Amino acid sequence: MTIAYGKHYIDKEDIDEVIKVLKSGSITQGNIVDEFASKIARFCRSKYGVAVSSGSAALHLAVKSLDLNKGDEVITTPITFCATANAVLYEGAKVKLVDIDKDTLNIDEKLLQKNINKKTKAIIPVDFRGHPAPLGEIKEICKNKNIKIIEDASHSLGSIYNYKGKNFKCGQNVHTDLSTFSFHPVKHITTGEGGVVTTNSYKLFNRLRLYAKHGIDRNVNMLNKKKRIGSWKYEMFDLGYNYRLTNFQSALGISQLKKIHFFMKRRKEIVKIYNENFGKFEFLKTPFESKNVKSNFHIYTLQVKNNKYFDRYDLFNYLKSKFYAPMVHYIPIHFLKFYKKKYKFKLGDFPVAESYYNQTISIPLFPSMTNSQIEKVIKDINDFIKLKC
Ligand SMILES: *Cc1c(COP(=O)(O)O)cnc(C)c1O
Repeated sequence: MTIAYGKHYIDKEDIDEVIKVLKSGSITQGNIVDEFASKIARFCRSKYGVAVSSGSAALHLAVKSLDLNKGDEVITTPITFCATANAVLYEGAKVKLVDIDKDTLNIDEKLLQKNINKKTKAIIPVDFRGHPAPLGEIKEICKNKNIKIIEDASHSLGSIYNYKGKNFKCGQNVHTDLSTFSFHPVKHITTGEGGVVTTNSYKLFNRLRLYAKHGIDRNVNMLNKKKRIGSWKYEMFDLGYNYRLTNFQSALGISQLKKIHFFMKRRKEIVKIYNENFGKFEFLKTPFESKNVKSNFHIYTLQVKNNKYFDRYDLFNYLKSKFYAPMVHYIPIHFLKFYKKKYKFKLGDFPVAESYYNQTISIPLFPSMTNSQIEKVIKDINDFIKLKC
């Protein structure tokens, strides 16, 4: 059996919760959806949560809720999944990329400062692999500039950062306006497909809810006895989408969230064991973690530095031959054909991202990994190194 780079963990309790909903009369559109969204918000210490059908939908609605105009620019980094940048294009704004920091692999705040101009209307920092982006610093840079901040927290449910002596959770929205999560099976918890947007703004919360349901709303004030308007009445206020999450997915999400502390603990254990074993090789770079953060690691990126023995291509293919399914996170946005053509990006535009991309592979990291699987990964990589050096 292949060992993937990431995988969901679903137990009997999860399955029972889903079955309960499937056997009930209401499999979509119910209170369970709102309950799941508010539980995610509460976990992040944010006020409001809106559940949607995917992390990409969450990003789209977050961007949409900002009411951007054509010509507005939104900044993100080249090292993210394309959905982050796509959300900006859906709303007719321009994507501007800013290079990453070589250690945290998150947006480089010094470069960010240099790239902000009058057209910059929003920034989407990505908490890459679970390491919080420099959110306090970004907020500081944006102060008095009317620039909104959307945290792409797809990787960082449960991660914590310290800013000026205080601890904050990813998705808490103290330094950001909105945060988005994905519950795809490789992420920290899963609903199959699904996402949540968190915010502390009641106004944004209402906009997100509206857009997730076709722009349609209904309330008792719309009813009118005199005009013979009954409770069928609804109104469409704006052009929205069907981005709804179902009841049974939400039941799975609620059940999964109960296990988040176990998931976090196990991921941390695995990262620690990997770091101890791979950190000793001078040509390997293990994931960096700043002193002021506690990452809930989503992926384990192992970088192969330039050396005369092997490169990341060799290691990747060796692992494949040993029945692993490693991955590379991510092909930089500016290397993707569509974006390259659209913005005339060239090799060398974002040198730190490119150098990271050329070195990295993601090796297995998921809570249900057994000790013998962890040992096997370590043994196989050690064998490979012995073979090559
Ligand atoms: C997974 C992911 C998304 C998209 O989420 P989906 O639920 O797959 O739509 C967006 N951004 C990042 C950084 C992700 O990892």
